[in-house]
Amino acid sequence: MGKALIIGCGGVAGVAIHKCCQNSEVFEEICIASRTKSKCDALKAKLDGGKTKITTAQVDADHVDELVELIRRVKPDVVLNLALPYQDLTIMEACLATRTNYVDTANYEPLDTAKFEYKWQWAYRKRFEEAGITALLGSGFDPGVTGVFSAYAVKHHFDEINYIDILDCNAGDHGYPFATNFNPEINIREVSAKGSYWEEGKWIETEPMEIKRVYDFPEIGTKDMYLLHHEELESLGINIPGIKRIRFFMTFGQSYLTHLKCLENVGMTSIKPIDFDGRKIVPLQFLKAVLPDPASLGPRTKGKTNIGCIFQGRKDGREKTYYLYNVCDHQECYREVGSQAISYTTGVPAMIGTMLVMNGKWRKPGVYNIEEFDPDPFMDALNRWGLPWQESFQPDMVE
Ligand code: NDP
Repeated sequence: MGKALIIGCGGVAGVAIHKCCQNSEVFEEICIASRTKSKCDALKAKLDGGKTKITTAQVDADHVDELVELIRRVKPDVVLNLALPYQDLTIMEACLATRTNYVDTANYEPLDTAKFEYKWQWAYRKRFEEAGITALLGSGFDPGVTGVFSAYAVKHHFDEINYIDILDCNAGDHGYPFATNFNPEINIREVSAKGSYWEEGKWIETEPMEIKRVYDFPEIGTKDMYLLHHEELESLGINIPGIKRIRFFMTFGQSYLTHLKCLENVGMTSIKPIDFDGRKIVPLQFLKAVLPDPASLGPRTKGKTNIGCIFQGRKDGREKTYYLYNVCDHQECYREVGSQAISYTTGVPAMIGTMLVMNGKWRKPGVYNIEEFDPDPFMDALNRWGLPWQESFQPDMVE
């Protein structure tokens, strides 16, 4: 049916590309382009031989002109951005210049400030609309599936939703005292930042890890979880009618937290460049270089993830609660695509969002967050492509 250009060839891209090849009716052709072309070639060598035609290319996605040249040469129907959040704006610029549809999984972050907000990408709305192309923002799991779950709950279960708690539990054990499950730089910037939640139209800020709750996760059991700021809170606060409060909680084990505190205390998580042996280095980037590569965790990680949303609101004049979640097994993911569940739960929705833009079901000119589209085709595709969802009408609530 069409051709996708996938930019980036890390953990998440590896899964999305496997899934595109499984879905060759839609993805007749893909081009994998990244900074290090040898990674793209190695993945092509692994996946070649199926129905999806694969090509590879080298690109530095920090440069709009390189991207424009690549997009003009490849002529994709959709560009799927699976590089880092720092490249979102350059890739969106190149899509505008070439009138090509755009999909990503994480919102833009300036390299020198650990702050993510949608304002930079929402500023492109008018230009995308005028160019007649679609930008789908945040097609991973969180953000991504959490927004689709919210749109599905609004459409099928509630007249109004007043409270949403997003719960992200990773009960996987990789055996290392400290490692991150996706890009360490992005992950540590996220968890060492101040927390916040959205209530009655305002942000309430907390100290990092200040709010702790305990939750009994289906198929996993009881875990400590901590309130974090997370990017989908910003768009859901606007797009879900009747909403009064949205919070995001993520589970962390004690070993992870102790190591993180120590690394913070000695300055290793700082993003301010320092002088070292006559050159400037960023401590967090150096830390990334010494930590295990998230892609290497796949064969070692055992256990499950459970990510979902608890909704509280009203239907037909009555109070109602509803919990939608997915449970994913690290080792099953590894057996299927050679990666752990964190990359899997992001790469599968990235493929699905790209498919829906490619086949026209989710095409409307402008820049949109995922909950602004009809959730039904996405929910069906989750069941078909490896992330089946489950629901509960009497969940334990988070206090
Ligand atoms: P990785 O670090 O594993 O992969 C990033 C890839 O991008 C690498 O191949 C890297 O190339 C490439 N890249 C980086 N900079 C450039 C550049 N300037 N030009 C071209 N390519 C570049 O990250 P992940 O796969 O873990 O994460 C990918 C994205 O997914 C991130 O934006 C992350 O925030 C997002 N994410 C979203 C989640 C969600 O649920 N929504 C969850 C997890 C991740 P090289 O190999 O040369 O380093």
